[in-house]
Amino acid sequence: MSFTEQLAAEVASRRTFAIISHPDAGKTTITEKLLLWGKAIQVAGTVKSRKSDRHATSDWMEMEKQRGISITTSVMQFPYKAATINLLDTPGHEDFSEDTYRTLTAVDSALMVIDGAKGVEDRTIKLMDVCRLRDTPIVSFVNKLDREIRDPIELLDEIESVLKIKCAPVTWPVGSGRDFKGVYHLLEDRYYLYQQGHGSELIADRTIDGLHNPDADATLGDEAANLRDMLELVQGASHEFDLGEFLAGRMTPVFFGTALGNFGVNHVLNGFVDWAPAPLPRKTAQRDVQPTEEVFSGFVFKIQANMDPKHRDRIAFLRVCSGRYEKGVKMQHVRIGKEVRVADALTFLAGERAHLEEAWPGDIIGLHNHGTIQIGDTFTGGEKLQFLGIPHFAPEMFRRVRLKDPLKSKQLQKGLKELSEEGATQVFMPQINNDLILGAVGVLQFDVVAFRLQEEYKVECVYENVNVSTVRWIHCDDERKLAEFRKKAHDQLSLDGGGHLTYLAPSRVNLQIMQERYPDIVFSPTREH
Ligand code: GDP
Repeated sequence: MSFTEQLAAEVASRRTFAIISHPDAGKTTITEKLLLWGKAIQVAGTVKSRKSDRHATSDWMEMEKQRGISITTSVMQFPYKAATINLLDTPGHEDFSEDTYRTLTAVDSALMVIDGAKGVEDRTIKLMDVCRLRDTPIVSFVNKLDREIRDPIELLDEIESVLKIKCAPVTWPVGSGRDFKGVYHLLEDRYYLYQQGHGSELIADRTIDGLHNPDADATLGDEAANLRDMLELVQGASHEFDLGEFLAGRMTPVFFGTALGNFGVNHVLNGFVDWAPAPLPRKTAQRDVQPTEEVFSGFVFKIQANMDPKHRDRIAFLRVCSGRYEKGVKMQHVRIGKEVRVADALTFLAGERAHLEEAWPGDIIGLHNHGTIQIGDTFTGGEKLQFLGIPHFAPEMFRRVRLKDPLKSKQLQKGLKELSEEGATQVFMPQINNDLILGAVGVLQFDVVAFRLQEEYKVECVYENVNVSTVRWIHCDDERKLAEFRKKAHDQLSLDGGGHLTYLAPSRVNLQIMQERYPDIVFSPTREH
């Protein structure tokens, strides 16, 4: 096989997606069952126990345990049928939504999980809004069918009206709660029977072919007749699956099942393999990059410090967009205009890191970051490209950081800068004094930073209120006008952790006045890379 053919085949087999859901809908449970189907774990239950090991080795994640939320985004790769699946996990807590937004820029499709008893919840609405920005194709799974759920027709109606996406049921439940018997697959014309008590292992499907098969009546009793009546209604009220509409992000195929019972999760995976897009072309400021281009390119969507406290390292997560990563490959770090040789990239096999020989478009690789990599950075085979759409949002909450031990200010600055590289918080250094101001989009992040400063940098700090209500990144092509603005607004200006000029506005009104007074200055609410 030539390299061109191999590249095309590797691209075609990749499926890179994330799970979006409201906390408690079952994302962790489904992740575990996906890994089970991918043979990445042998017995379900190990994800949780591995999680607790990680807690034991990494103290800052203690917070995650205490608060019962998932703070980190992890990346898992596993094979399924002829495909290679890259599953990107996202934090469920809304204070970490920026991280989630950026992770969603690195996927080609998403799995939306809905709690069958609760229907569409807040976080799901917000995450769908993000997916819509890029028309990301969505597969839906209605979970917890082993409990009493709401009327499925009503659930589909709710998805359609609240999330503004057409629903195409692919499977339909037969009974629910105690009487949950399985699903009927509308496209395969086949019943899949639920077998209780096999939630943590893979078992062979039990099926009955044909909607009107008398075996169905014999096995399911009245439920079979109920289903047939129901399906007439469903078919009248919903849409038939249309691949084009799905790929355009306008229609979602809907599956039903129970993640806890490991039932229906494989139907979803089959859906991804059969329908979800292989790695898509990506926009750069210069041109669109096709995944089948032979020269390597990719962008960094996430940085995580001290993933492994024993190594005290910082890992940049890079999505491969074209070509092949090979151990020892030379890459152009476009922003700083340097060539770097990468011999020690990491891959994330089911969350465990391993050294990597090669990676293909759609894959996520981990680069060791010694402070030169920022979120949004582009790496190429030499061409000057800049991938678009990886935003830094302006923080909405601000605190002045005060040291308990004034001798540790170097450590503090280092810690704040390194932690802000992860993108969840941002540090600002005003021009008029030596303050360090921390900005975040969620209040929980202040706690996380204080905790991590103490654990990872041995710095104790406290927060004080500060008179900043919002921040804007400053740009101006006219040097003279910029210089004048810098003089006039001096007291309100600062540099962020990446050295970019920012305006710290004491109030919205002040910001508005400044914007009116200096129409040639661009006050940007996001720092797009
Ligand atoms: P996450 O917050 O979305 O990651 O949700 P989890 O996977 O942690 O699930 C939240 C709770 O729902 C846990 O107690 C799970 O055991 C439970 N759960 C998940 N899936 C199912 C299911 O299919 N049926 C039932 N009955 N419970 C489930």
